[in-house]
Amino acid sequence: MLDLIVIGAGPAGARAALRASACGLSVLLVDENPDAGGQVWRPLPEGFSRRDDAALSAEARDGDALRRELRRAGIECLFGHKVWNIGSDLRTDVIGPSGSQSLKPRALLVATGTTERVVPFAGWTLPGVIGLAAATILLKSQNILPGRRTVVAGSGPLLLAVAAGILKAGGEVAAVVDLASRGEWLRALPSLLGRPDLIRQGIAWQWQLRAARVPIHYRHAVRSATRSGEGFSIRIGAVDANGSAVSANVPEVDLHADALAVGHGLVPGTDVTRLLRARHRFDRNRGGWIAQADPDGRTSVKGLYIAGDGAGIAGAAAAGAHGEMAALACALDLGAIDDATHARERAPLSAQWARSARFGHAMARLMALRDGAVESMPSEVVVCRCEDVTRGEIDAAVREGARDLNQLKAWTRCGMGPCQGRTCGDVAGALVAAHVGSREAAGCFTGRAPLRPVSLAEVAGDYNYADIPIPKAAPL
Ligand SMILES: Cc1cc2nc3c(=O)[nH]c(=O)nc-3n(C[C@H](O)[C@H](O)[C@H](O)COP(=O)(O)OP(=O)(O)OC[C@H]3O[C@@H](n4cnc5c(N)ncnc54)[C@H](O)[C@@H]3O)c2cc1C
Repeated sequence: MLDLIVIGAGPAGARAALRASACGLSVLLVDENPDAGGQVWRPLPEGFSRRDDAALSAEARDGDALRRELRRAGIECLFGHKVWNIGSDLRTDVIGPSGSQSLKPRALLVATGTTERVVPFAGWTLPGVIGLAAATILLKSQNILPGRRTVVAGSGPLLLAVAAGILKAGGEVAAVVDLASRGEWLRALPSLLGRPDLIRQGIAWQWQLRAARVPIHYRHAVRSATRSGEGFSIRIGAVDANGSAVSANVPEVDLHADALAVGHGLVPGTDVTRLLRARHRFDRNRGGWIAQADPDGRTSVKGLYIAGDGAGIAGAAAAGAHGEMAALACALDLGAIDDATHARERAPLSAQWARSARFGHAMARLMALRDGAVESMPSEVVVCRCEDVTRGEIDAAVREGARDLNQLKAWTRCGMGPCQGRTCGDVAGALVAAHVGSREAAGCFTGRAPLRPVSLAEVAGDYNYADIPIPKAAPL
């Protein structure tokens, strides 16, 4: 019998699979991407190769090393496969190019990472406006620019990473628009001291922007993006520390570009833990709703473990150590290792996690959702882009009696589309909370299958119509 399925082959899931296998567990690692690496160490798409290995970034090298290690260790992997359903007995339904299969492990380790958050503004659904984190996918996997001239806006460290990445790939950055103030970045510095490598990287990005004379607008946000000729007119305006628009005495500025990369942080992926009805809690500084777990990733559901950014945003370096800690906990609980081995192997991982998570948590605080940004959204702006539900419709539903996110979903279809609320859920939750008093009262969407869009044909597989058993008519 299979001991452990690990969902997600980012730093958390891949390291978890390696450690669990080293402890003697039989492990299957599943990821919808074509190879391991997750969001930060993204593999190249199939059929692509690198022209210049000497110019590889540290991230690309780390990703290649991890993929080699997985192959050397002989970890069984299902890449290009998505997990679309999980039963309460942990039976895991997986779909890939060769069809669907159901697997029943003794334990399940969820390392599914995060989703990007965008606080909607007029024009955010136009072609040419993309997520900040999404821009890293374009840049990393295919070296493609979001546009010739891009405005980079939002919050957190991805702002600098994307702006520097665009310059490196030969593009132009019209401006960086940062929700945070310079002071907020400076106040985060003490938490960054444990990671001099990352501080050096941040300083190098700052220098690249300065050398290219890229203007940085601190404490500003995008108010609207409108089509103008071949590109966009992007209106930005000042905000206060809570993200609320400030209008008195501060003129708005119009920027011109042919692309806008904008993102307001990352939201932990809780679709699996919500589907399995694990207990959750709201923690704004860790990204929002997260499954309740002990430090080793044991959730309230027996046999279900979580690790990495999906357990609360802490960054890639912390994700790897967390994945290994969760794997050790699982090996201990399944009887593959004894207490002494567990304690000995866990100690260095726990120290590594604490060092890295300090940095990651400081960055997560900079990216945390600011309620003022949500309050400042105009009424006609679309919040749920799968089902075209506007802020005005959400406010009206709550005024008329929808008391939490699930009632809102039933009344308006907000969160009922193909993304299952991954994109809109956090902002919709903040809108409901403004009426009902707290995020806890507003709750989160109940997890439902399918976790990923799947076609009925894929789920049904090959069959002859004549072989479908037709039940006899019930006696009258
Ligand atoms: C789009 C995006 C880009 C990012 N870019 C950067 C960056 O450039 N630099 C940086 O420092 N941080 C980046 N981050 C943050 C980064 O994700 C984390 O710090 C780090 O990768 C966390 O590692 P993890 O293992 O927890 O999750 P991830 O690396 O996100 O790995 C999760 C994996 O789970 C897989 N998965 C999820 N659900 C399913 C499912 N149902 N079936 C099958 N597979 C599934 C995903 O394909 C993914 O490979 C990015 C985040 C996002 C959302």
